[in-house]
Amino acid sequence: MSEDKLRQAIDTLKQSGVRITPQRHAVLEYLLNSMVHPTADDIYKALEGKFPNMSVATVYNNLRVLKDIGLVRELTYGDSSSRFDCNTSDHYHIICNQCGKIVDFHYPSLDEVESLAEQVTGFDVSHHRLEVYGICNACKEQHAAK
Ligand SMILES: [Zn+2]
Ligand SMILES: [Zn+2]
Repeated sequence: MSEDKLRQAIDTLKQSGVRITPQRHAVLEYLLNSMVHPTADDIYKALEGKFPNMSVATVYNNLRVLKDIGLVRELTYGDSSSRFDCNTSDHYHIICNQCGKIVDFHYPSLDEVESLAEQVTGFDVSHHRLEVYGICNACKEQHAAK
């Protein structure tokens, strides 16, 4: 994971006038290093050793700040808790049915879906989200080993 990305993100924070607390820095760093789209709980568990006074609420707060300035995307999934993604470029997700892992993949943006939806429904379209589901390699291997 490149230090560059972290430095860029820190610059964005500074430009937005957001205070960079050690916890905020750690949350950001964790997200940038993790390609797994963690939940707030995952981040909390990973960092609680380093910040014994930190609560899940603090992690949420920090994530909300990062989200507001566009460094992090929140992926909501109805009942289950949100996953956080620091890859804010256009990409799609494939999700493992078994372990819930989310992996990024790139595909030319399906802009025509948006214009079609607009034409058909009259909505002002803001964005779209595409998710593909399946079984990841690790789960396949685990299954084969049984
Ligand atoms: Zn899996
Ligand atoms: Zn992603």
